[in-house]
Amino acid sequence: MTKTPCDVLLIHAWVHTLDDQGTVIRNGAVAVRNGSIEAVGLSDDLETRFNPVRLLDVSGCVVLPGLVNAHTHVAMTLFRGLADDLPLMDWLQQYIFPAESRLNASWVYWGALLGCAEMILSGTTAFCDMYLFEHKVAEAAKEAGMRALVGEVLYDFPSPHYGSVENGLRFTEDLILQWKDDPLIRVAVEPHAPYTCSPDLYRRCFALARKHDVPMVTHLSENRAEVMEVQKRYGQRPVAHLGALGVLHERLIADHCVDLDDRDMDLLAENRVIVAHNPESNLKLASGFAPVPALLRRGVCVALGTDGCASNNNLDLFGEMGTCAKIHKAAAMDPTVLPADTVLRMTVRHGAKALGLEDVLGQIRPGFAADLIAVDFSAPHLTPVYDPVSHLVYAAKGSDVRHCLIAGRLVMEDRRLTTIDLERVMAEVRAIARTLRS
Ligand SMILES: [Zn+2]
Repeated sequence: MTKTPCDVLLIHAWVHTLDDQGTVIRNGAVAVRNGSIEAVGLSDDLETRFNPVRLLDVSGCVVLPGLVNAHTHVAMTLFRGLADDLPLMDWLQQYIFPAESRLNASWVYWGALLGCAEMILSGTTAFCDMYLFEHKVAEAAKEAGMRALVGEVLYDFPSPHYGSVENGLRFTEDLILQWKDDPLIRVAVEPHAPYTCSPDLYRRCFALARKHDVPMVTHLSENRAEVMEVQKRYGQRPVAHLGALGVLHERLIADHCVDLDDRDMDLLAENRVIVAHNPESNLKLASGFAPVPALLRRGVCVALGTDGCASNNNLDLFGEMGTCAKIHKAAAMDPTVLPADTVLRMTVRHGAKALGLEDVLGQIRPGFAADLIAVDFSAPHLTPVYDPVSHLVYAAKGSDVRHCLIAGRLVMEDRRLTTIDLERVMAEVRAIARTLRS
């Protein structure tokens, strides 16, 4: 029998497909060809059917779809540890905004590349980003071989990047057109938050997103102070305010959504808004506990993000999954809420949906994108194994990820990055930090 050629064949894995049935294959294999999954099945079977360019024996590993970081500001790796232990508004206004006023395109590029390295090294294959000089984030993600939904942050006051918001909207439209045919990078329209963006800006952002059929991303109801500020200004809570503006829709990713009442949650559910939940950032900034179990009960698609490195302070979604699964149990005084499988599905399947890619991403199925990670389960802290999902959420760390493929390309092999010169990137970021400190 002649064998079918393929690019990569992963064999002897514990394959966790994350399909609708939750299919798990012991001694499984995945064949990858032209960036997509060609076949999934038993190792013995696929080894006889395929002739791979690269054969990867991943004995002792669990293979699953790559994790999706649904909300971050990736270049904020530059400000990791710059200022901690402050209230959100003080932290933003006294430290983060002044530091950001000194940003330039080159700094954002190096910070973003460092973030991409950190994400690949911890099993994240796709992310949704909001920042300044976002064209450099797109460039860095492309160079790293990552999948990304990016967007320039828009607000009413002048930006250190584009100046007036008129320029910001024009810049966003140019960026959309520039990347529209790229297989990995896509662009969203991203108004910052209801307390920094006027109703007019939200309406114009929505029109621009509709014109180009792209998603919209915004921070929403992050904490009590924001809700009070928006109520004072517009007489409504932030979610109802955006509802009245007509911008709640199924291609809106709303970041945080911590301070919600029942009506807010109903509005998010009715309008099929996607929520990006960031538990570690919410804990660190003392924003509170987002009502994730109640949102999921209403059928809201809740994905998981890390937020920026200045409020987390890392991009490791394995840690984030553990935190997410645990804090809601304590908040609800109920250990049955957010079981491990739910949290893993939020991070993979809901993340794929947030990016608008649920038909091609987030499952190990023929025809789906070959965004795959192999997590090494041979470490003491992952021994013994009764249920791999339990370990993935409660015991594994990002550093347990051994291989990482994005669109079929091996971007990390045996912990070595193949697309990023890590020593160079870290040296550049250290030099930027020296300038920032001075
Ligand atoms: Zn954020």
